[in-house]
Amino acid sequence: MKSINPALNEFVQDHKEISSEEVYQIIEDVQKEWKQWKNKTIEGRANLLREVAVQLRADKEKLAKIISIEMGKVLSESYAEVEKSAWVCEYYADNTKSMLKDEFIETDAFKSFVSFEPLGIILGVMPWNFPFWQVFRFAAPALMTGNATLLKHASNVQGCAKWICNTFHTAGLPRNIFRNLSISSAKVEEVIKHPHIKAISLTGSEAAGKSVAALAGKYLKKTVLELGGCDPFIVLKDADIKAAAATAVKARFMNNGQSCIAAKRFIVEKDVLDEFVQEAYAIVKTLKTGCPLDEGIDLGPLAREDLRQEIDRQVKDSIKMGAKLICGGKNIDREGFFYEATILTAVTKGMPVADEESFGPVMPILEAKDAEEAILLANDSSFGLGASLWTQNMKKAETLARTIESGAVFINEMTKSDPRMPFGGIKNSGYGRELSHYGPKEFVNIKSIWIA
Ligand code: NAP
Repeated sequence: MKSINPALNEFVQDHKEISSEEVYQIIEDVQKEWKQWKNKTIEGRANLLREVAVQLRADKEKLAKIISIEMGKVLSESYAEVEKSAWVCEYYADNTKSMLKDEFIETDAFKSFVSFEPLGIILGVMPWNFPFWQVFRFAAPALMTGNATLLKHASNVQGCAKWICNTFHTAGLPRNIFRNLSISSAKVEEVIKHPHIKAISLTGSEAAGKSVAALAGKYLKKTVLELGGCDPFIVLKDADIKAAAATAVKARFMNNGQSCIAAKRFIVEKDVLDEFVQEAYAIVKTLKTGCPLDEGIDLGPLAREDLRQEIDRQVKDSIKMGAKLICGGKNIDREGFFYEATILTAVTKGMPVADEESFGPVMPILEAKDAEEAILLANDSSFGLGASLWTQNMKKAETLARTIESGAVFINEMTKSDPRMPFGGIKNSGYGRELSHYGPKEFVNIKSIWIA
């Protein structure tokens, strides 16, 4: 496994894959440590998680740079990612106790209640696009509930994986309660089938989700799947078009267009379509592309060359099928995996940029004749992660929000994740929820206790 700086197409570091024997040894060590960890008080675990947050902030400069060098995110976004990772540690340190308190239920028993108990070792299979945030979003609640965690990170961000592990250990967490497994996806089955592994949380593509869920089925392990999206960004004719366009550009181009909850289909009512396109184009043409470590850069490279080829294929095939190119549409002629900020109009169902997840700086715009058609188009997708809806009529907004098939709807705001709100998808975007009080309950034994 190799780290390649995508801004320069330059080799950074090799990461040796560990052997099966080493994997089994780590699992045994973690299982042993878990037996102590689960009996630690929640306050004891919370204090350690708070230390992790302190450590993240202390090392923010260094960690942000590692993120940007390994996957190409602009530095300001890497800082924000490290900060958000610290926030989720503090959030669960402060709130897990109340989330997991016994739930008393009136029955005909003398006393009946539900207790929430840890399961054991949870494996996190994580993606490269938010290489810190995704891991902390999985690990902080899992650890606070008394589980132990193993990380199998994406092959191209093994440097981040090592630094995350280092952060936990420097903060004082027992070494074997969070361990990194430096393995490729081919070795994931060996981990899943191990009897000490009780559940898997996977964040990644639909293909990886199907494969891991099939393995989990084979070995009867619980899964949570956070998969891809093709999120609609719906602009109705009574929206504040200027504000909608400004947020649309942010929602599409942040993280170089490589976010699961990025707006990926812009569905705009006919009457305001031209105005929306003009406003969006005016902002897109000011986006500054360059080395992610430089000041004032808005767009960095894509994380890998194959990802750039894939987005280019989606754009070219959509144009062949009738999409109109407003700007962009090709690689940038410089070292690294840069792609031009692209706007496509006249996009219709059946085109790759409308049907597939486009993971790059490409803004496909679809026309809807009215609000009803906009919702039909939004729901006509195999994905169902997030959605953003723009209108100034709040009553209509709430009614329409309930009809959108997705795990979240944001009104007059871009879709985002927030530790206080549940996060996850429906349809091919996966199942299960992370964050809020729903997240920790995915990986606990919800035990009924009945006293006659
Ligand atoms: P990916 O290729 O699916 O990889 C994700 C993780 O799964 C990596 O650790 C990868 O390891 C592993 N993996 C891939 N195929 C596997 C298999 N057959 N068996 C076991 N493990 C396997 O996804 P990515 O390119 O890293 O990330 C982008 C995708 O993640 C996008 O679709 C994006 O929308 C989605 N995503 C979803 C969310 C969400 O919360 N819903 C958040 C972020 C990203 P290797 O790298 O070693 O193959």
